[in-house]
Amino acid sequence: MEKDISHQKNRLLCHGCDDCCRYIAVEIDRPTAKSDYQNIIWFLLHKNVRVYIDWENDWLLEFVTPCKELDSQGLCKNYANRPGMCRDYNQKDCTKYNAKSAEKISFNCADDFKRYLKKKNIDWELKNQSTKSI
Ligand code: SF4
Ligand code: SF4
Repeated sequence: MEKDISHQKNRLLCHGCDDCCRYIAVEIDRPTAKSDYQNIIWFLLHKNVRVYIDWENDWLLEFVTPCKELDSQGLCKNYANRPGMCRDYNQKDCTKYNAKSAEKISFNCADDFKRYLKKKNIDWELKNQSTKSI
């Protein structure tokens, strides 16, 4: 798919779809220390959060949460003033027009990530953990 597309073509290609307005994903450092593993476990204990590794081996933290500018018809209420991130986003990279998913490995919950660490023989556990809840 060509990189630069007209506003009209963009609208046609996106017609009936609002997938990319329903989440944000931010790159995080690749975890290398116990404190990093603990942080990722903490992220994944929250609802609507996942962590994934993409095909470039970058680590991303994703929050599944719709943009406040999205209307009930799945259209942007402020399209003319949408942020640069939205302007730069291209169907070439999007979920609808790509058979290949963005993620190589996805962790949808803390247990997913713990299983991954165990498989890699990575020690993530804190010693002397209290069994008492606070
Ligand atoms: S996911 Fe793709 S087709 Fe859907 S709105 Fe975003 S850019 Fe358009
Ligand atoms: S500002 Fe508009 S185009 Fe950008 S994410 Fe929100 S609804 Fe989508």
